[in-house]
Formats: sequence, C-alpha cells, structure tokens
Amino acid sequence: MMRQFELLERVKAYDPAADEDALNRAYVFSMKAHGAQLRASGDPYFSHPIEVAGILAEMKLDAASIITGLLHDTVEDTVATLEDIERLFGPDIAKLVDGVTKLSRLELQSDQTKQAENFRKLVLAMSEDIRVLLVKLADRLHNMRTLHFLKDEERRRRIARETMEIYAPLAERIGMHEMKDELDDQAFAELHPDARASLMARLSFLREKGEGLAERIIDELQETLTKGGLSAEVSGREKTPYSVWRKMQRKNVGFEQLSDIMAFRVVVDTVEECYQALGVIHSRYPVVPGRFKDYISTPKPNNYRSLHTGVIGPERQRIEVQIRTREMHEVAELGVAAHWVYKQGAPRTEGRQYRWLRELLDILEHASDPQEFLEHTKLEMFQDQVFCFTPKGDLIALPRGATPVDFAYAVHSVVGDTCVGAKINGRLAPLRTQLANGDQVEVITSKAQTPSPTWERFVVTGKARARIRRFIRTQQRQQYLDLGRAILQKAFRHEGHEFAEKALEEVLKRFNCDSVENLFVAVGEGLATGR
Ligand code: MN
Repeated sequence: MMRQFELLERVKAYDPAADEDALNRAYVFSMKAHGAQLRASGDPYFSHPIEVAGILAEMKLDAASIITGLLHDTVEDTVATLEDIERLFGPDIAKLVDGVTKLSRLELQSDQTKQAENFRKLVLAMSEDIRVLLVKLADRLHNMRTLHFLKDEERRRRIARETMEIYAPLAERIGMHEMKDELDDQAFAELHPDARASLMARLSFLREKGEGLAERIIDELQETLTKGGLSAEVSGREKTPYSVWRKMQRKNVGFEQLSDIMAFRVVVDTVEECYQALGVIHSRYPVVPGRFKDYISTPKPNNYRSLHTGVIGPERQRIEVQIRTREMHEVAELGVAAHWVYKQGAPRTEGRQYRWLRELLDILEHASDPQEFLEHTKLEMFQDQVFCFTPKGDLIALPRGATPVDFAYAVHSVVGDTCVGAKINGRLAPLRTQLANGDQVEVITSKAQTPSPTWERFVVTGKARARIRRFIRTQQRQQYLDLGRAILQKAFRHEGHEFAEKALEEVLKRFNCDSVENLFVAVGEGLATGR
C-alpha cells in the first residue's frame, strides 16, 4: 500500500504548489473513516482509495482530484457525510465527491448494459466537472485490477461487461488510450480467459523466437535517425492481448497472419522534426503502400496527432511506426488528462473549468461522428437530455424539462393515457415535476384515468403532446356528436316527424358530409349550414 509521504512526493513532483495540508488531512480522514473495513482481497479497504489516488497522481491531476480519489467512497460506504467533507475540505471537494458518489449509485441501479450508449451519455451528463469522470475511471481501473478477488462469478462478469461497454469507450472518447487499453484487457481477462491465455502464450512464443527482435529493431531505428541528424526517442510496445484479439476478429484472420503485433514509436521535439524523421525512415526503408497517415496536419477528432507509416524495416520486418512530439505523445496517452496538465499553468478562473468541459464535450460529440465536425446541434441535443430509469432499470432518455407524464408516454402510450401519479426515487411526486438525471421513475396507473387537458401545459415530448391532443380531439368530437344528435332529434320532434338516421342519409350530400356521424358533429359544432 502506498504510504502517505509517497503519495505526497508523487504529487509534489509535478505540482509543487499542491495543498500538502489538505492532501494529508484527506489521507488520514479516509483511513479513519474506512477503519477496519476489508476488501475482497483481504486487504484493508483503505488500500483502495489510496491506489485510486495513486492512479490519479500518475495522470498528474490536480490536488483536488487526488483528494477526491482518497475520499471517493467515504460518503457511500462509511458514516462520513457530505456535510463533514464540505466542512473539512470545502465546497469544491464536496461537489466532486458527491458527483463520484452519484455515479457509483447509478451503477448499482442498472445492471443492464444493453443500453450502453445511453448509459455512457448519462455518466457524462452527470460528470458536470470532468474530474468526476476521471476519478470514476481511476476507481474502475483499480476495481478491475483487483476483480479476480471477487468470489461471485456472475458479478465479476457483469462488472467486466460494464467496463468493456461503458467505461473503456468513455476513456477512449476522452482520448485516454492507456486507460482504455488496460480497462479492455482486464475485462477481456475475465470474459475470455482461455482466448487471452492462448494469445499471451503465442505472444511470448513470438517474443522468444524473435530473440530480442524488438530491441534490435529499436536500436537500428535509433541509429538510422541519429545518422539522419535527429535526436529521437524510439520505443516499441507490444499490443495488448485484447487489441490483438480485436484485430483478429475485425479482419477475420488467424494469429499466424498477424504481422504487426508491435508498434514502434519515435518521439522528437518539434513538428518539423516529425517530418524530418519521416523523411529519414522513408529514404532508408521500403514503404508499405497505403499505410501513411498524417494526423498532424489533420488531427483525429479526439485531438490525436501523429504521423503513421508502415515500412519493411530492420531485419526485413514489416512494422508500423508512429512519429510524434512529446506533447502529442502525452495527449495520445493521457487524452484530456494531458490537457489538464498543460493548462495547469494558466490562471485559475471559474470559467476555465467549464470552458474545458465544453471543449471536451465537443471532442466527444465529434469523435462519435467525425462528419458532423462543425455541427453543434447534436451536442446541444445531448446536453438537453435527461436520463431516467424504470423500476426494472431500463434507461429512458428524455428532453430536459420532461415530466413523469412524458416518461409514462415514453414507456408506452397506454401507460401515458392511464397515469394518475408517479413516484420519483421512491417518493410520490406531482405529475408536473421536472425529472433530473438518474431519477428512477415509477408510474402509477388506473384504468379509470384518461389524459387530462391540463397535461398539455407541462409535457415537453412530441409523443405525449400528440397523444393528449388526439385524446382531447376524440373527446370533443364525441361531445359535438352527442350535441348534434340531440339538436336534430329536437328539430325532428318540433316538425312532428319521427327521428330516423335513415332519413338523414339521403340529405348528407346537401350538408357536404360523408356520414351521419359527421353530420351530427358538424351540427354540434354549429358548422352545418344547410346550403
Ligand atoms: Mn471505489
């Protein structure tokens, strides 16, 4: 377990101005709050928040994020309250801890990952401050690292699936590739242990057969670049078993056909040097056609920048090489967390955090559909949504401002038509209540109920409005129909005739109506003129 001073040293190493006193107090507070609680591993529970704080420190996040990491489970799992945290650590930390606590509660609510996309949006919508999401991801990463200690297999698999379907894609969308890779690979280990084991065996066989092949490739690349007058840092990274497996699935090829299980990286100081390095490599080795991509002049929507090329490199090996500057590299590995680091020097203002969030939301939206790079409407659509649960845990997405009546109609039009009340998070609430993200809504229905015209004043969804209007129209028509029939019956009597619908059928044309019923309605509305 990481000791108090170690954590402090790590944070101080990249942020000398970090609030040492607050970090120490958070450490002690969390340790005392979790007391004798144990993890499934048998370790003291307290080891978990410390490891989470350690992961956040690796991401070089600000002291507030580290403190939130230390405190993130205290409100949910100990007697400590949010008020305690606000009193001891201030409103900002309290808000962050509250956000993480809410996300954790959400997890318990829904074990359906079918609606992963909606769930991802909900998590984002609830992470008003992006640091909430970063702490949540670090929390999930440590839980995945220790997943094998859980005895309940069903639960382990559920957590692994949720990680793969919700948290790994979230990490990817905010550009945190390292985090994404590990989350995926940990989940893969739980879900397909056999496939992963055989891939690992195969990878280590290739590693041994190559007898330091990767090292020789790195050395030669390094030498080539140095001769070309560049000081570059060359490294090689074996792909994770999960990413190799994904590639096999995607390209529908066997392991034998997979050549590039290693990715080589060249890190230089400036953008000009990136292109110089590319020139040196291209003039020294045969280029594999169709593999060159310039993500420096045209960055990926999530801000990824790099030059990619494929060459028949040292030892006649077909390799992929990525060339980038140090800053590009950090952004590629850490995503938004790197932006955070780079912006830490900027003056602290209230707006900055939100502008940053705004930028992030931009990135997210664009990443899901690069075509809509300049179209902001979609982003607004997303921000204008609330996500609520049915009692069974189904996720219902609604426009912001939606009420239990909108919710009821979204579930089923019959549920909408017959709703008489609603329980929000277990408590009775008026039908006009505006729903909030994460609300669990139980609609109370009665067969005797019909849509009320007053609902039209507060519903926001088209479906609810259309159903209510249709019902009101039908109801009005019935009233006009009854009224019209009564007027005509009276008129017949007045003239001394016996009332007969048959008699009316012969005069429909004169009244421009196609049925007796419509004639009644027209008379009731006062529209029949008898021309
Ligand atoms: Mn936790």
